[in-house]
Amino acid sequence: MNAPVPAQAALTALTGPAVHLAAPAGQGAVRTTCPYCGVGCGVLATPDGAGGAAVAGDPEHPANFGRLCSKGSALGETLGLGTRLLHPMMRGADGSMARTGWDTALDRIAQAFEDTIERHGPDAVALYLSGQLLTEDYYAANKLAKGFLGTANVDTNSRLCMASSVAGHRRAFGSDTVPGSYADLDEADLVVLVGSNAAWCHPILYRRLEAARLKRGTRLVVIDPRLTATADDADLFLPVKPGKDAIVFAGLLTWLADGDHLDEAYVAAHTRGFDEALAAARRLAPSVEAAALEAGVAAEDLAAFYRLFAGTGRTVTCYSQGVNQSAQGTDKVGAIINCHIATGRIGRPGMGPFSLTGQPNAMGGREVGGLANQLAAHMNFTAPEIDRVRRFWQAPRMAEREGLKAVQMFEAIAAGRIKALWILGTNPAVSLPRADAARDALRRLDFLAISENVATNDTLGCRPHLILPALAWGEKDGTVTNSERRISRQRAFLAPPGEAKPDWWAVAEVGRRLGFGEAFAWRSAADVFREHAALSSFENEGVRDFDLGGLKDMPDAAFDAMAPVQWPVRRPEDTGEKRFFADGRFYTPDGRARFVAPDPPALATATDAEFPFILNTGRIRDQWHTMTRSGLSPRLAAHLPVPFVEIHPDDAAPLGIGDGDAVRLVSIHGTAVVEAQLVPGQRRHNLFAPIHWSGANSSAGRIGALVAGTTDPFSGQPESKATPVRMERLDMPFRGFVLMRRDIGPPPVACWARAAVEGGVGYILADPQPPRDWMTGWCAALGADAADYDDAGAGRYRLAAFEGGRLAVLGFMERSRQRLDWSGVLPLLADGVIAPDQRRALLSGRTEGGAGAGPLVCACHGVPRAAIEAAIAGDPRASVESLGRCLKAGTNCGSCIPELRRMLRQVMEVT
Ligand code: SF4
Repeated sequence: MNAPVPAQAALTALTGPAVHLAAPAGQGAVRTTCPYCGVGCGVLATPDGAGGAAVAGDPEHPANFGRLCSKGSALGETLGLGTRLLHPMMRGADGSMARTGWDTALDRIAQAFEDTIERHGPDAVALYLSGQLLTEDYYAANKLAKGFLGTANVDTNSRLCMASSVAGHRRAFGSDTVPGSYADLDEADLVVLVGSNAAWCHPILYRRLEAARLKRGTRLVVIDPRLTATADDADLFLPVKPGKDAIVFAGLLTWLADGDHLDEAYVAAHTRGFDEALAAARRLAPSVEAAALEAGVAAEDLAAFYRLFAGTGRTVTCYSQGVNQSAQGTDKVGAIINCHIATGRIGRPGMGPFSLTGQPNAMGGREVGGLANQLAAHMNFTAPEIDRVRRFWQAPRMAEREGLKAVQMFEAIAAGRIKALWILGTNPAVSLPRADAARDALRRLDFLAISENVATNDTLGCRPHLILPALAWGEKDGTVTNSERRISRQRAFLAPPGEAKPDWWAVAEVGRRLGFGEAFAWRSAADVFREHAALSSFENEGVRDFDLGGLKDMPDAAFDAMAPVQWPVRRPEDTGEKRFFADGRFYTPDGRARFVAPDPPALATATDAEFPFILNTGRIRDQWHTMTRSGLSPRLAAHLPVPFVEIHPDDAAPLGIGDGDAVRLVSIHGTAVVEAQLVPGQRRHNLFAPIHWSGANSSAGRIGALVAGTTDPFSGQPESKATPVRMERLDMPFRGFVLMRRDIGPPPVACWARAAVEGGVGYILADPQPPRDWMTGWCAALGADAADYDDAGAGRYRLAAFEGGRLAVLGFMERSRQRLDWSGVLPLLADGVIAPDQRRALLSGRTEGGAGAGPLVCACHGVPRAAIEAAIAGDPRASVESLGRCLKAGTNCGSCIPELRRMLRQVMEVT
């Protein structure tokens, strides 16, 4: 089990006051972008003058036209400074962290890098970046490493997210080009979602698709091993076996060829490699029946999909992590693109392959070249490109070969080959595969610097030598690029707190200290952006897709006012919607797209008697990554508040696992303890667990600890969707919770998960032992105005502490197989003074823990599952609209509408 990360209360020396001290008052709405997913929604943020801001969708932003999903809508709840890191901190000789100044901190990084390079060479240094960084931060870090430190060991957590799409694009198109736009979804007659739970992971794009379905009858096909909220909503769902997506598309290519559905003129004029690709497809899937058998789907359903695809010119195929996070992700992307170029369905309205990126600026990182196997600005490590970038940067020490991709980078750290690392804006001790090994590797570094905006997370627990306070959303100023190549400004609307600084500034300061002042003389994000734009157009002449030449001379005022724009922007007047490949020319040496012959699909590691289940991992609707921001919102926490695993009931029964039981998951790499959720729609012998819980917010919910690090040979992306595991029920007869006004850390129990609640924080608990001992100890530690109640016979324990007559801590534990619901007593935490008879009721057991309203389905209006079930049961004609009228569910952001539809369907199936 992981050691608990220090409670926030213990970190007040590092953090600051609860709100931004100098938040501008009376400022109007500021146009910015959401910091979560790759949809890249525009946000209007209006500071309230007290450190917070009202948040609304930007009606003029072309990605969302005013809509926000549940996560975006809750951004205003995440702006406090209670968890923030506000000052540079340095590790002293005694091992403790102490506050230091920026000058000392930056000198220390420069010295550590210089010493390491001198003693061990440039490849002993690395930078690990994040798809959450702004493009300007990415640009600065990439330039420092590849041009001035002399290493291409610059990689990013985007490697875990979409690297297979990058590699697939480069193989097929000769460039990392996303051909289409979101507008293509509005104009498509068929949308195929492969490995994408867009209803949860790209909610606003999914709402756009829903609107197209209503307006023009767009058909939706979902190909996924899981019956997700998206799959449940589809016209046709193909529950493909894990890893077999390429078979579906190999079969499609064969079927298109055999049925004379190809665009032979397009294939002849604009492509190469068709015959080899078709021959490979025939070997993999010679017939619909063979493809169906291999892919694990019904032959008639597969044939229906093939007919639909063949008969629908305007087809968009979107793919996401289910395709990318695979040891054969690049082949899967290739198999999808094959079918589009074989039918000429690319570069035209309403059609094309479309990679949906997970993070807000994964695309910006790709543009900059912030991946170890790219150089810069969509240039690679060829001699002419290295020379071009060297001349542009006036770089004295260019990296001349690809660096180590994320998984290999951490292996090199573990092996002692990388000795100095700077992490910016990411939490690899949670998110990397084999996360325990990654955590151990970080602790072995000679020098570890971390730029972060929070004071505590799992990676900060890996004994860094230096931590630097970064700006957070609302304070940052720069640009991001969404999935459709649209560059938007992310603008500051709050003053920088404490000594927090932009990441690009910190990188530039290190560059100056290394003696490269001229190359890092930027004064603003606008300066960095102009240089980035200038590099993209340097000796370009249309030979590279990525070109921002039209923006390279924009004045500061124009940068400030910059409206969202899709690249390329070759000339200043280029501002309209664009589509690549309309002329059938690609960025390969001969201008033709390449078909790819995929290898036979197989999972990297097969299940066996010891590890008989395949663990799939992914995101949930209302959380983001390791929850350092989204976890601050009570309404988001109420959706799914504990780490869990979805299990088919027939897999659970032989193991004695019931719904709500604590379960230990074990892989060859690590373990996690999560709550069982029995889901009849879950595929047999397959499990699903979310990625969001860490050692900072749970006792043992880090799913990354289990995941294998086997990577795709082209993209280096790990297979995060298919790790062999076993599971076992843990006997935890005591269940309960503790609510606190001020977080003093988790109680000493075996299993806990922390969740934000109105008025404080809650810990959801499970333990094998009666809680009397720890509750009594806690009670004593809480002070005079605390009392507990022990009814050992009934298996019921309670604890309450008061400060100034108000409830400060409330703990309930009971002998129960189900999670205890706190909704009945939660309002007491936010209430004023508790009356004496209420105190007695709390402790005597007369106040119940709650009626078990279940998870929150509608986060915006706080509507729990039980209320929706009751409304459906009471109205035989219940619909999404009627639920909206009577409960308001689904009437704000709409993120829960697929879940409402699913619940309605389930009831209809039963009755
Ligand atoms: Fe943010 Fe939601 Fe839009 Fe994604 S869909 S950018 S999470 S508001």
